[in-house]
Amino acid sequence: MVNTLEDENPYLLLTPGPLSTTPSVKRVMMRDWCTWDDDYNVGVVQEIRKELVRLAGGTDETHTAVLMQGSGTFSVEAVIGSVIPEDGKLLVLANGAYGQRLAKIAERLRIPLEVHDTGDLKPPDVEHLCRTLTQDTTITHVALVHGETTTGMLNPLPEIAGVVKEVGRTLIVDAMCTFGGIPMDVAELEADFVISSANKCIQGVPGFGLIVAKREALEATEGCARSLSLDLFDQWKTMESGSGGKWRYTSPTHTVRAFAQALTELKEEGGVPARCARYTENQRVLSEGMAELGYPSLLPEEWQSPIITAFPFPSEGFEFRPFYERLKDQGFVIYPGKVTDRDTFRVGTIGNVFPDDIRRLLDAVAQCGRGDSLSNMPK
Ligand SMILES: *Cc1c(COP(=O)(O)O)cnc(C)c1O
Repeated sequence: MVNTLEDENPYLLLTPGPLSTTPSVKRVMMRDWCTWDDDYNVGVVQEIRKELVRLAGGTDETHTAVLMQGSGTFSVEAVIGSVIPEDGKLLVLANGAYGQRLAKIAERLRIPLEVHDTGDLKPPDVEHLCRTLTQDTTITHVALVHGETTTGMLNPLPEIAGVVKEVGRTLIVDAMCTFGGIPMDVAELEADFVISSANKCIQGVPGFGLIVAKREALEATEGCARSLSLDLFDQWKTMESGSGGKWRYTSPTHTVRAFAQALTELKEEGGVPARCARYTENQRVLSEGMAELGYPSLLPEEWQSPIITAFPFPSEGFEFRPFYERLKDQGFVIYPGKVTDRDTFRVGTIGNVFPDDIRRLLDAVAQCGRGDSLSNMPK
């Protein structure tokens, strides 16, 4: 399969979200919904919540899902601000901009905080984590990013979860850009709060985030929230009340309907394993092809996720802007870099994107010239 882009977009988004979505996901947004009516609350919202629990490997007895207005960060802030009690302390494992954002949220909310920052190019240090949790019994919660979008690194979540659960602490996972795209058994990991958003691997459009929580853990957080609109427990209580599915404040109805369609299409594709296989093939074609064109990837293969790939600027004369514009003219939008101490650009391989799309991108890159040759730089 390949995107033809005939009627829709002038270019394909090769970014970490929002992503290129299918025409059918866009089409279902062409009607209005009443946020009071069961057609929407029961027929759409509750179905989504049930499906999210199922995708996470949980059951309705053990797990529950909460939807929250805003972009993904709003849901991260809702969790951090709502689940850590006043006498709690958060340990953040950071190795990129999104891990640092977890810490920044806690700082802003004046939550006692410790940060283990291993730098952009290294995964979290599991031994150090183990020692810290044993020694510092005031740490009640540990938060980390699963797929660090800064570099494309996939952090060793099962290992980290094992350590955190062994010593009985609460685990918060920003799985924003991996949930629905990489198989993840939230129940088996015993993760307490897992956060993602509508416009990442489930391939919906932007407008809300989602939290899959262990029921037990969420029930224990009543009255902890530091914000009204981002109160996770209250949002959940409202969604659970009556026949269910009611949001406290206006919900992004069109976006929510699109998300329900995106979940149906995820199932039709063969579920998370099939989607992961497609993204993995996209990424393989990309990194091999780019390396041949003189653009080696930033990360070694063992840490590379199928989600997004960072490429260091290939030569001194390389300029991102003209490169970006040349690719955009040919129908591809890529992403600037975010690594702190080196110039990079990034290419996402998620969304309604297929290996043949990536091959077309590589042809477009080839026309810009080899990355390692200064003389051919696009101007
Ligand atoms: C996309 C993303 C977020 C959320 O970003 P928003 O711009 O708020 O949607 C958070 N964490 C990670 C790892 C992400 O990839």
